[in-house]
Order: sequence, then C-alpha cells, then structure tokens
Amino acid sequence: MKFDVLTLFPEMLTAYLQQGVLGRAVKRGLVDVNLINIRDFAKGTHKTTDDRPYGGGEGMVMKPGPIYRALKSVERVDGRSPVILLSPQGKLFDQSIAWEMSGWDQLILICGRYEGVDERIKLTCTHMELSIGDYVLSGGELGAMVIVDAVSRLIPGVLGSERSNLEDSFEDGLLEYPQYTRPRMFQDKEVPEILLSGNHEKIRVWRREESLKRTLEKRPDLLKQAKLAPEDKAILAEL
Ligand code: SAM
Repeated sequence: MKFDVLTLFPEMLTAYLQQGVLGRAVKRGLVDVNLINIRDFAKGTHKTTDDRPYGGGEGMVMKPGPIYRALKSVERVDGRSPVILLSPQGKLFDQSIAWEMSGWDQLILICGRYEGVDERIKLTCTHMELSIGDYVLSGGELGAMVIVDAVSRLIPGVLGSERSNLEDSFEDGLLEYPQYTRPRMFQDKEVPEILLSGNHEKIRVWRREESLKRTLEKRPDLLKQAKLAPEDKAILAEL
C-alpha cells in the first residue's frame, strides 16, 4: 500500500515512520510512505504557501496553487486513488473506515496548517475530508499519521501474527479485555487466577465477559452496533 502525504513539515513525520510496527512495515516494503513537501511546489523567491483570507479575519490560509501542483506530482497507482483532506470538519475516522482503506492500493493525504486550506482544493481535488476527533489541532500531520498507522496495522503481514489485530478493541464492536504480564503481583494487585489456570476455554469465556463488561462501562454506545451472540446478550442482561 502506498501513502502519499502532502505536508509543510515532512520532518515531523519521519521519526514516527522509522520506528516500531510502522518502521518494520516500511523496511519490509509492505507499506510505502512518500512524504511530499508542499513548499517545494510554491513559486517565487520566498516560496510562500499561505496568504491572508479574502474577506478579512484572523490568520492565514494555505494557497491552492502549491497544493494543486504537489498533488499533480503524485504518481498514481490508478486513476481512482482517493485524495483525503485532513480537517476537523470531516467525517470521523474510525476502525471501520481503516478496514475499508486497508484494501486500497494508494491513499493521498493532504495536511492543512494555519486556518486551513483554500476551499477550492476541497471542491476540486479531494474525495473526502476526514477528522480524527472533535478538537482542533495545529495541523493535519498527526491526523495523517493516525490514518497511516491504523490502516497499515490491518495490511496482511504488517503485524507479526495474522490474528493479533482481530482481538483489538473495536474489531468485533467491543473494547478489548484487560491484559496482564509479569510480575504476578504488582502494587498489591494480583493477576486474575483464571489467566494462570491454563484452561483455554475458561480464559476465552472470562475475556469475553470482561470485554462486554468494560464496553458496557466505558462505551455503552458501541453495544448498539456490536455483533452479539445469544450468550453475550445473556451476560449483558446479568451485568
Ligand atoms: N480553521 C479550521 C476550522 O475551524 O475548521 C481549523 C484549521 S486547523 C488550525 C489547521 C489544520 O489542522 C486543518 O486544515 C487540518 O488539516 C488539521 N486539523 C486540525 N484539527 C483536525 C482534526 N480534528 N482532524 C483532522 N485534521 C485536523
């Protein structure tokens, strides 16, 4: 999968792309992240990428020309490669969108800065606006990395074990059960006995119950969409 990220600050992203799961995926060629500096496509001696807003008001707006030229420079895997504008006004990015995107060959992400990008970029060059939450960040770079990371994890082979993301939170509409590792006792809190029992069926049932319990406590809204078996419904009824 190829990600093309258009940004004024590519250096902000390089460290994140070199480490951990994502770093390994890039090294193994499972994911290709191409950082494009929008400033390289600005004209004039000052390479200006922003200007004052028409109609007056605070702040600066990203000029459409440099972004347009940067977009044109991107090598398209096919004619339909989606262009996504990071924006607090966009559709909320979530795990189901990440799954959908993980099947695509290419994703082109535009990171805004200042007061945002000239509206005509949205109108003429982008397929979708995505937000990573109901708050305003200084730029789209964190959002782009959230998308690159969440989508890459779902690409076959990126995680060590093919199964390891299937039990993550949101995968079946529930939050994941609690995880423990050594030591057995920490700050007077012991690892639940059942996890030491070696009884895989009992552990599976306990984990499912914990998953349902914490989803009910922390994110009851998720239960409306979750795929629940009759035994899950029985557990919830008891809870
Ligand atoms: N003036 C804009 C508004 O009120 O909608 C906010 C601009 S924000 C300061 C600058 C850039 O950060 C945006 O163009 C966008 O690319 C990015 N950004 C800010 N918050 C975001 C969010 N929640 N999700 C995705 N991108 C965000």
